[in-house]
Amino acid sequence: MNFERVALIGLGLIGSSLGHVIHQKKLAKSVVGYARSKATRARALEIGFIDEVTADASACAKEADLIVLCTPVGIIGDIVKEIAPSLKPGSVVTDVGSVKSAIVEQSLPHMPDGVFLVPGHPIAGTEQSGPDSGFAELFENRWCILTPVPDAQSEEYQTAVSRLTAFWEACGSRVDVMDPKHHDLVLAITSHVPHLIAYNIVGTAADLERVAQAEVIKYSASGFRDFTRIAASDPTMWRDVFLNNKDAVLEMLGRFVEDLSALQRAIRWDDGEALFDLFTRTRQIRRSIVEAGQDTAEPDFGRHSTPPKEKS
Ligand code: NAP
Repeated sequence: MNFERVALIGLGLIGSSLGHVIHQKKLAKSVVGYARSKATRARALEIGFIDEVTADASACAKEADLIVLCTPVGIIGDIVKEIAPSLKPGSVVTDVGSVKSAIVEQSLPHMPDGVFLVPGHPIAGTEQSGPDSGFAELFENRWCILTPVPDAQSEEYQTAVSRLTAFWEACGSRVDVMDPKHHDLVLAITSHVPHLIAYNIVGTAADLERVAQAEVIKYSASGFRDFTRIAASDPTMWRDVFLNNKDAVLEMLGRFVEDLSALQRAIRWDDGEALFDLFTRTRQIRRSIVEAGQDTAEPDFGRHSTPPKEKS
């Protein structure tokens, strides 16, 4: 047991999943939770993935050895500022936010001496949110990226990184350490831009005039259906991701638009070879992801095997 008392600040998909896995694998003596709404606090206690709950983030963090911030990215810096005076010397503060440089910039100035900020990002999630959506296996065989803060080379800081690494490994994850800026660039192309594309294509379909919305839903082929799953992700979380990872997202989006123009040209000029070559390369990337155990090859990717009954 690396940390005796764990504080979970935010009890949605990621916070509740952490609560479940900590209990299931007995990774701490007690888990205390904070959520802003009464409904979430009550539900978290009822489900039982935390032992205590409070409406005060500072009280939640006060006696904890590990504090995990599991709220949307845009509010993490403010919460760190709020809880900082209550933090116990020697404690480790981490987060699960999908963006890292902005969180380091917004949180590091508030950290008291003797408390260690080690930001993190579990590359694990679903399009669901809230305290009912969590489950203990969420982090199983998924990567968790830790982004130690710049210039924190002391032995004590390295011990904090090692303790947090051991914690995530005990949760079932594989851990990588990365520079925060590099993390943001990698995630911009692997996660943030794909979400933006999904939001955009579903928005475009919803705005079409010559194809009725009812037809888009009724005849949704698998491609569109997969996009709608991604585009159903939490609006607050994703708004905050784009506002806090502007540079990397805009850089990757620039590349994306150039490549899209090249595809447009290939279609216009009947360049079947260019299309075939690209589609062959991308198929190989899909195979590599399956081979690396990061997805399954089943054709039923995230879908019901029997289609829901049509309403009469
Ligand atoms: P979620 O299910 O929507 O839960 C968010 C939690 O934060 C809720 O407990 C919510 O409280 C609380 N919260 C929201 N706004 C708040 C505010 N202004 N002040 C205080 N508390 C607030 O979100 P999630 O999916 O767990 O995501 C949490 C973090 O994990 C985000 O930073 C996200 O970037 C990161 N992440 C998400 C995924 C994913 O796939 N979802 C994957 C990896 C990392 P109430 O319930 O009381 O409203």
